[in-house]
Amino acid sequence: MNNSLSARDQQVNWHPYTQMQTAPPPIGIMRGEGAVLYAEDGREYIDAVSSWWVNIHGHAHPHIAERVSQQLKTLEHVIFAGFTHAPAVELSERLLALLPQNQAKVFYTDNGSTAVEVALKMALQYWYNQGVPRTKIIAFEGSYHGDTFGAMSVSERSIFTRPFQQYLFDVEFLPVPVPGHEEQTIAQLEKLLQQDDMAAFIFEPLVLGTAGMVMYSPEVLDKLMALCRSKGVLVIADEVMTGFGRTGKRFACDHVSQQPDLMCFSKGITGGTMALGVTTASQAIYVSFLSDDKTKALFHGHSYTANPVACAAALASLDLVEKNAFLEDLERISTSHAAFAQSLSGKSGIKQIRQTGTILAIEFEVGHTTYFHSLRDQLYNLALENGVLLRPLGNIVYVLPPYCISAAQLERVYGVIEQMRLLVG
Ligand code: PLP
Repeated sequence: MNNSLSARDQQVNWHPYTQMQTAPPPIGIMRGEGAVLYAEDGREYIDAVSSWWVNIHGHAHPHIAERVSQQLKTLEHVIFAGFTHAPAVELSERLLALLPQNQAKVFYTDNGSTAVEVALKMALQYWYNQGVPRTKIIAFEGSYHGDTFGAMSVSERSIFTRPFQQYLFDVEFLPVPVPGHEEQTIAQLEKLLQQDDMAAFIFEPLVLGTAGMVMYSPEVLDKLMALCRSKGVLVIADEVMTGFGRTGKRFACDHVSQQPDLMCFSKGITGGTMALGVTTASQAIYVSFLSDDKTKALFHGHSYTANPVACAAALASLDLVEKNAFLEDLERISTSHAAFAQSLSGKSGIKQIRQTGTILAIEFEVGHTTYFHSLRDQLYNLALENGVLLRPLGNIVYVLPPYCISAAQLERVYGVIEQMRLLVG
């Protein structure tokens, strides 16, 4: 592995989402345990971003490992034509039991992007089958929903989509209702809803992750959802990032009273172990999608859809998610984050701190944006030198730890952020 690492040292590294160049060469990771990653050069890092927000229970969780290895000895894969299997059935039943009551059916996909793709297909199919020409989608400015073409279309025109704009479908973008701008968003949505071709509204509930952990309140989300539903516009909650505990409850939609028509999950669903995506839908929408009349039904299916091993990993993860101890961990981390955010407030070098549940985003005050790249590299390296994996995007640092992280480990992460502040401030 050492040889390949030196070859990789020569490469330019691109951040998967922003396409920004990331300065440091990749670090060869040998293994992980709990909140810690062990590198091949003998160093250890606290994984303060849950390996890009997926590894919610920590690495090499014995319960998930055991369940996956059992499944591998039983059944790894079946073709989906005419067959199903116990892990897929059990997972759909147990997941639906945790979701808003109207979520009636599960459609398996392979990752977050395809979960979103299916939700969009389902929404468009629904209106098509009704014979109603509703084809437009509403989304938030700055949103990110994945990198398939449908998901790119509803991700705001940006570095993610720019070269392909002519291939994307037409979407109306709403400003994010950040504090102080709620009325503007509500008024703009009301205006859009006067048009009769709006099919669906897709959003990241409460937190726009890739936009920089931009947050808005449950009260406004409830209002936006209610407005859409009053006009029959379908509501799609993309919980790919927020799902499974990030906002302090199991799901971000647990904070609101309105029920979404469709929901998308991935990232945390298998505890970060196996690739799996899930779209859930109300009965009417799901039935419409699975029409026997193939002239009416959009197709979606992949070779690995509902892979039994991935479903088994998700079941083992759910065993943990269903426990009270899971909610206690969320509470413990949320309280700790909130106290740290409070302690930073008003200090030099801090532009804004955003926190909800287990998500903490620190935006540092910097001068000119051309400084962002070198600043990001300095912050990243500073964290690594202190044995912490943090992934600054420009001047923003995210902390989304695995829920097994200890108080002492959290303190070390906060200590690094304090050092970052001193570097910047
Ligand atoms: N939706 C949201 C809100 C996301 O944050 C992401 C990924 O970051 C996606 C969809 C796409 O998920 P995936 O990377 O699994 O395709």
